[in-house]
Amino acid sequence: MLEELKQEVYEANLQLYSSGLVIFTWGNVSALSKNGLVVIKPSGIPYETMKPKDMVVVDLKGSVVEGELKPSSDLPTHIELYKACSSIKGICHTHSSYATSFAQAGISIEPLGTTHADYFYGGIPCTRELNDNEIYQNYESNTGKVIVETFKERNFNEIPACLVKNHGVFSWSLSAKQAVKNAVIVEEIAKMNFQTLALNANSTVLKHTVLDKHYQRKHGEKAYYGQRS
Ligand SMILES: [Zn+2]
Repeated sequence: MLEELKQEVYEANLQLYSSGLVIFTWGNVSALSKNGLVVIKPSGIPYETMKPKDMVVVDLKGSVVEGELKPSSDLPTHIELYKACSSIKGICHTHSSYATSFAQAGISIEPLGTTHADYFYGGIPCTRELNDNEIYQNYESNTGKVIVETFKERNFNEIPACLVKNHGVFSWSLSAKQAVKNAVIVEEIAKMNFQTLALNANSTVLKHTVLDKHYQRKHGEKAYYGQRS
């Protein structure tokens, strides 16, 4: 079942690994099928030996529908995000070093330049810390819930990533591969911000007019960046 989507999720996971954002078995990518099933990387299987058929199919309650292996332990976080925003069709999770450094410091990644504005219409926020109850019980789904809480006043489509305090990055998009691409962009922007702030700790956030210009020309209603399809 869902052979095409399994292949796509498998390839997206390999892209994540070859991008250098993850080591060992860290990180995971999933996608949501048209009929509301989640295809996700299995837990703890090395990327080198992973096969498309190892991808696990689960429903939005987290029950395995098809697959021999256990799904990634972060599955409940993915499920909370799919439930929160219907346009999210792919999710990627990493502990990529620059972005995770911001998450560990509890600092959002603010738009300091146009590279950021080309992809994110505002800062990439960092969640609050989970409380002890949220950690003891349903830790992974509470991680998803705290992201959803952080996005109460934000738009998942305009800012397709979030830092989880002391943890790492979740990014999303219209497909698994696009979600991986967003994770790569988050890491690159985090690296640039780190370097910018090291050079000048008083660097200021991009003017709103420039943020608007760069975001809207790529993603707005009258987008004109790139070639006409
Ligand atoms: Zn993690």
